[in-house]
Amino acid sequence: MSESRGSAAMNALVWTGPSEAVVQQVPRPVPAADEVLIEVAYCGICGSELSGYLGHNALRKPPLVMGHEFSGEIVAVGPDVATGTPALAVGSRVTVDPMIYDGTCSQCRAGKQHLCLNRQLIGASRPGAFAQLVAAPAHMVFPLPSDMSLRIGALSEPTACAVRAVSLMGDVRGRDILIVGAGAIGLLTYQVLRHRGAAQVFIADTNPARLANVEALGALILNPREVDVVSHVLDATGGEGVAVSMDAVGKAVTRAQCVAATVRGGRVVLSGLHEESSIMPVADIIRKEQVIQAAFCYTPVNVRDAMDLLDRGVVSAGDWVIDAPLADGAMWFDRLVGDPGPVAKVLLVP
Ligand SMILES: [Zn+2]
Repeated sequence: MSESRGSAAMNALVWTGPSEAVVQQVPRPVPAADEVLIEVAYCGICGSELSGYLGHNALRKPPLVMGHEFSGEIVAVGPDVATGTPALAVGSRVTVDPMIYDGTCSQCRAGKQHLCLNRQLIGASRPGAFAQLVAAPAHMVFPLPSDMSLRIGALSEPTACAVRAVSLMGDVRGRDILIVGAGAIGLLTYQVLRHRGAAQVFIADTNPARLANVEALGALILNPREVDVVSHVLDATGGEGVAVSMDAVGKAVTRAQCVAATVRGGRVVLSGLHEESSIMPVADIIRKEQVIQAAFCYTPVNVRDAMDLLDRGVVSAGDWVIDAPLADGAMWFDRLVGDPGPVAKVLLVP
């Protein structure tokens, strides 16, 4: 083990219970033999962590250091991490696929590592990156391209979610698409869809400031407080509906909007996790013979594709991404839960 820093404690944002988080001194993580220790540069707050923060998520139990969308610099390397991998040396700038897989189960062997039977999420089942330091298995670590900033590198994980969602939409070239939800995943998915040649892309959200973000990128915005989203989409698509819709919110109303706004034989992609269960218009889905497609996280291939899109500037950060000190983490959790305004992604800086 090569160690480069001294003290045995570090600062971390510890979630201590529903709607409570405080910066505390906690023990430094000790990387296992096949892990690296990373000094965190940026760590984004994920929508799933907002429900975790409120105490609505069975996966997360306090006290917990959350945080899984991060970038940083390697400061120590375990003895079993393959030598001759200069990309995983002390000083390397990296991001991490936080959905740790074992690489041996039936799902992993089928290339669906995100469905690994033994998966463990950094920041949920083990300490995360809302901290000065985080440990991660070496096989989950991705070196950043030399010209990619650490700030952009921290967007790799949410961008990978968008890449996977689009990959599950089938052929999108020349097709009309509806995205419900203009949070980070909706914004990133829009950018991927535009690159893949989608025709009209509508985005619905009740937050006008978030809609302005995506309108600036060229999307067709719909505020359900001002227009009937479904009838607007039907009117704009010759009465038939979009080929594909994606619910990036996860409420009964938004899931139903997607079904109603999608063409017969079309596809509804579900990625938002706001409600654990919802009433769905199943008879309509059957009569329209729609495909209901869930999209969850990403595979390592999706992470690489996402990093490539970010590196080439096909997907970019706008004013909707802001940086904030880790000490302001609890305040930002509260704001994101309440009224986030135009902010869709907060990158905490330890
Ligand atoms: Zn597995």
